[in-house]
Amino acid sequence: MLLLPDFRVRQRDFLLEISRALTSQLNLDEVLKLILQAAASMLGGSVGLIALRQDDEDSFHALASIGVDPELIPLFDPLLEYLARNTDDDFKTDELNVKIRRLARRLDIHMRQAIALPMVMRGSTVGVILVFRAYAGTSSPNDRLLLQSFADQAAIAVHNAQLYQSVNQEQQRLAAILDHSADGVMILDEGQRILRFNKALGRMLGWPPAEAIGQSHGVVIHWEHVDQGQSLEDALAAGWPRPWRDDEPPDSLYVEGDVLRPDGSRISLGITYAPLLDEQGALNNVIASVRDITHFRQAEEMKSTFISVVSHELKTPVALIKGYAGTLRRKDARWDSETIQRSLEVIEDEADRLGELIENLLAASKLQADGMRLTNIGDVNLATIAAHSVERFQTQTPIHKLVLDFPPDFPSVPGDEMRLRQVIDNLLGNAIKYSPKGGEVRISGAFDDRSVTLSVTDHGVGLAPDEQERIFERFYRVDGALSRKTQGTGLGLYMARAVIEAHGGQISVESQPGVGSTFRFTLPRE
Ligand code: ADP
Repeated sequence: MLLLPDFRVRQRDFLLEISRALTSQLNLDEVLKLILQAAASMLGGSVGLIALRQDDEDSFHALASIGVDPELIPLFDPLLEYLARNTDDDFKTDELNVKIRRLARRLDIHMRQAIALPMVMRGSTVGVILVFRAYAGTSSPNDRLLLQSFADQAAIAVHNAQLYQSVNQEQQRLAAILDHSADGVMILDEGQRILRFNKALGRMLGWPPAEAIGQSHGVVIHWEHVDQGQSLEDALAAGWPRPWRDDEPPDSLYVEGDVLRPDGSRISLGITYAPLLDEQGALNNVIASVRDITHFRQAEEMKSTFISVVSHELKTPVALIKGYAGTLRRKDARWDSETIQRSLEVIEDEADRLGELIENLLAASKLQADGMRLTNIGDVNLATIAAHSVERFQTQTPIHKLVLDFPPDFPSVPGDEMRLRQVIDNLLGNAIKYSPKGGEVRISGAFDDRSVTLSVTDHGVGLAPDEQERIFERFYRVDGALSRKTQGTGLGLYMARAVIEAHGGQISVESQPGVGSTFRFTLPRE
């Protein structure tokens, strides 16, 4: 069926050279080009193509060609289909030649013979090398053997390149997952040096990935304190990870705590370290996935504060009500009417307190569920509301001096009067509660063309800077002896902020521990 050209003497050398080139090349396109060029020059052809079976399909797809306009490649499809169906017949060339001549006419080129070399890998035909030539020749069994050995080499080279390509694709996929993951991910080498470090982790830790890569793990993950588990370094020193045992993979390691960032701030992190071991059980890499658990921790804290606040605040009035009611009910005692009256007053007050607390809790839950809704918007004069509040609060505290300080022409603003009254009561109530030694509490107003401002200043215990940020959170109460003694749910300022923001305003605090605080809110005049 074929005849090798004159360089028959050099055949073996040529084959060797080709197989070397093939095995050193891993780029599939390059491999195909090499194979085709070699096949064409061995067979003395000027037109050729390589087609591979793809995804176990029934036909071959042309992936590389020489001597044909790429746009004409689809014309080869019927021929390739025929070859794909007849791989077992060792490519009957007579039939092929008929097809070939038909194709040659359509392509308008001079081709007389086609040589098809099946590429076989582990018993199945993975593709075909087709070379067309302008003359027909015959071949010896030796030639055929040689060509087949070339085709086998080619099949291996194609297979390797395909494997390499899929490993490469897999690697790119993994790199994309790693880079775009919302969780922080890093990969360490066996000496805990950082090999990969994704953007999310960079943002969490305040380390640009390019600077973190190459650093030692301990430099970048600087625990201020560990609350759960142990640091990677300690775990490694203690023998982590234990090798595979009875098909059980080694345990991952979980650590939780606060990490210091380069700028001195801290972040709460939960890190899971997964070990990658080699066949001998030695540690190759550690893959760390890192989660910012700040919000989770705050929510946990809030939950426990909520439980303790609610249980404390609910228990006290319930105990008082039960105590007074029980005393009044005693059959062996006779109470004068004044005692009965006073006891009933306490019961009523405490029931009110319970009612208010429940009301607050419901309001806070509703606020969280559907946001603040303002129902009765009308003209509201904060100076008038403040004057009423001062009058009421002054009767309850002899040690504080409540001072009103509003300009006479203080303007009204649109707003929900009942809600704004709650806010002012809350600020005034807090100013009194949190200045236990008494002193002046000044409630003053100011305005300009656009807005009105109300501020409440006390000379009480004050607030540390990090507390100033948190007191507007739901259920947050400063953890201190005074807060523990004072009634409260940590809902007042949370509700106040919601009311003010629903009006399009802002609320803030300025404070110094031991000196006092000023709470201030601003409402737009329109
Ligand atoms: P509550 O007073 O019911 O605890 P708030 O939401 O009104 O709840 O206030 C939250 C926390 O803010 C209080 O527990 C208190 O620690 C702090 N705080 C509020 N007002 C003042 C103030 N005027 N001075 C000092 N601390 C205050």
